[in-house]
Amino acid sequence: MPADAISSQTKLAPDALGPTVAVGEILVEIMAKSRGDGFLEPIELVGPYPSGAPAIFTDQCARIGGSAAIVASVGDDDFGRINIERLRSDGADVSAISVSRDYPTGSAFVRYRNDGSRDFVFNIGKSAAAMVSLTAEAKALFALAGHLHVMGSAFAIPSVWETMDYAIGVIKRRGGSVSLDPNLRKELLGLGQTQERFARLVDVADLILPSGDELFMAAGVDGESAAITALFARGVTEIALKRGEHGSTFFGADGSRVDCPAFRVAEVDPTGAGDCFGGAYVACRRLGMSVFKALEYANAAGARNVTMQGPMEGAGSRQQLDEFIAVTPRNAQ
Ligand code: ATP
Ligand code: MG
Repeated sequence: MPADAISSQTKLAPDALGPTVAVGEILVEIMAKSRGDGFLEPIELVGPYPSGAPAIFTDQCARIGGSAAIVASVGDDDFGRINIERLRSDGADVSAISVSRDYPTGSAFVRYRNDGSRDFVFNIGKSAAAMVSLTAEAKALFALAGHLHVMGSAFAIPSVWETMDYAIGVIKRRGGSVSLDPNLRKELLGLGQTQERFARLVDVADLILPSGDELFMAAGVDGESAAITALFARGVTEIALKRGEHGSTFFGADGSRVDCPAFRVAEVDPTGAGDCFGGAYVACRRLGMSVFKALEYANAAGARNVTMQGPMEGAGSRQQLDEFIAVTPRNAQ
């Protein structure tokens, strides 16, 4: 089927039903200016940059014109304030970001190694980021939300499950939808009931946004077509598979497939590409765009973001992404 013939129909609830809400960690990222191993000697650093996968997702979702909100926690400090200000000024609803008096905003110190992998020093578990809870503000937000976006990275926060279960119940009851980005570190799957809980999230998700092997982890089955079949059998209706510099592919429960090539860019900082992709894709589908148009904006959002240093510095407005799409060549698929 030609790409343009795929209709704009989607099981995702329309934007008008209420905001897309993400739940999870807000962090600052502070990065080494030089490549190398670890942080064992004094080195030059740059930051703080607003960060945290759910924050990056929410910021891109809002910037492209979707209604977006986040349930998260920051400290009563400048690291928290730069996040709240960024999200607010980019159009996200920040009413359910709580401010902890007892803990500082979460952080990640990052240094790229020469082979492109990363060394991290995280402060998440003992920071305000881990204080996410079902506050009155979060309940008020869920009561008018249209979509919940769940990210595997947030499962490092034990209290997130209660909030997520509550949100799924409320949002589904009012006709809302759910998406899942499995970006879950494999080590977390072994913790407590994570595996069972993760499987339940797959069961309630309408849309899954995996990258690479996450497709198999989400399905619990190896092999692309077997994994896709298994996910559809569990009630998923669309899959947007992220393929880095090879672009992305949509699979629909009706058997449709749409491929969209990546944009050709010089990668400066890969962090945040998947989250920007997700924020743009969910917003565009909820705004009623066709699959191809949504993939094109999502690819553009991911690609533009990797051209700038900082996890969400390259998140683009609709107009910036239109300009980017107009002038940027595409990779062969
Ligand atoms: P992350 O590293 O943030 O977890 P991810 O693995 O979830 O990302 P990717 O596939 O790396 O997701 O990136 C999402 C999208 O961003 C891709 O589908 C692609 O369209 C775009 N993208 C990412 N990296 C590049 C790149 N180097 N060149 C062009 N496009 C890119
Ligand atoms: Mg990812």
